[in-house]
Amino acid sequence: MHAPSLPDRSIEAYAEVTDRNATEIEDGYDVIVIHDPQPLGTIDRLEKTMPNAATVWRCHVDLTAPSEEHLAFVSEYANRFDHAVFSRSTYGGSVDVSGASVVHPSIDPLADKNRSLDEETVAAERDRLEPLSFDAPVVAQVSRFDPWKDQFGTLAAYRRAREAVPDLQLALAGGMAGDDPEGMELYERIAQEAVADPDVHVLTDLPDATVNVLQRESDIVVQKSLREGFGLVVSEALWKRTPVVGSNVGGIPLQVEDGHDGYLVDPDDVPGVTDGVVALLEDERLRTSLGENGRVRVRERFLLPRQLADLPEVLATVLDLEY
Ligand code: UDP
Repeated sequence: MHAPSLPDRSIEAYAEVTDRNATEIEDGYDVIVIHDPQPLGTIDRLEKTMPNAATVWRCHVDLTAPSEEHLAFVSEYANRFDHAVFSRSTYGGSVDVSGASVVHPSIDPLADKNRSLDEETVAAERDRLEPLSFDAPVVAQVSRFDPWKDQFGTLAAYRRAREAVPDLQLALAGGMAGDDPEGMELYERIAQEAVADPDVHVLTDLPDATVNVLQRESDIVVQKSLREGFGLVVSEALWKRTPVVGSNVGGIPLQVEDGHDGYLVDPDDVPGVTDGVVALLEDERLRTSLGENGRVRVRERFLLPRQLADLPEVLATVLDLEY
């Protein structure tokens, strides 16, 4: 049943766009994998044009505590897929798919964003980030400008931390997702804060190598999300040996073990973020040891080869093959 609170006009527009997209997928596939909730409606056409293909929904979002009407809308499509792949085990409960697997996302260690860099490149990218200076302490958050990423919470935690560490700087790097109308408004409000405080740096459209250096050279990365699918930025930072203070939501607790490679706090716990940041800033050895642990944790669990090994298993399951 369609949710009563969604206007017919929106439902019609959704069906029209997803149908148009589905016509772009030509026949000849044994398996079709649809990523994210937005294109789920393509199943309407795919069921008719490719009745023999196995359909997999790769769900990247946090489905715990969903809005009931939106879940009802999404489920009408999701439940018709043969199989779903979730980023963590608790995400599967809300939809009724016939089969499901859990595959943690991963980062590519050889991509520009994550690969190790020579000193010259680091120096050039540091210059690009000026007036942000790594000669004084830096806390960074790298996230889309999106209310769920809670940049204002990070800012509040930073302001408290600066009472203990007066020369602390904050870098908020982000971009706007094209399908996220709230992003621009949030960005403008955050940018206003940066105008008022020369130690708050709002950075947009950074090339991958610059993001790499920001994550690598910052003393701490914060990910103060209120909700999170997985949070690849956490693994990206840990891989570069930068400890993370993150919220205990979505995929963040899979990556951060409290006291081992960073600190976990409740999503609305601004003082908790401050405490974690200050404790790490005041103890270089602690920072180094947690950063080292983060590197190992990501190497063991969240690099691309592990994900590549998981995927054939999913394909074998949906195609009913021995593996
Ligand atoms: N990202 C980036 N530049 C930015 C902000 C984000 O390159 O200014 C990248 C970030 O490095 C990560 C991805 O966008 O690879 C965000 O993934 P994540 O899972 O953390 O969050 P999502 O945006 O998918 O909710």
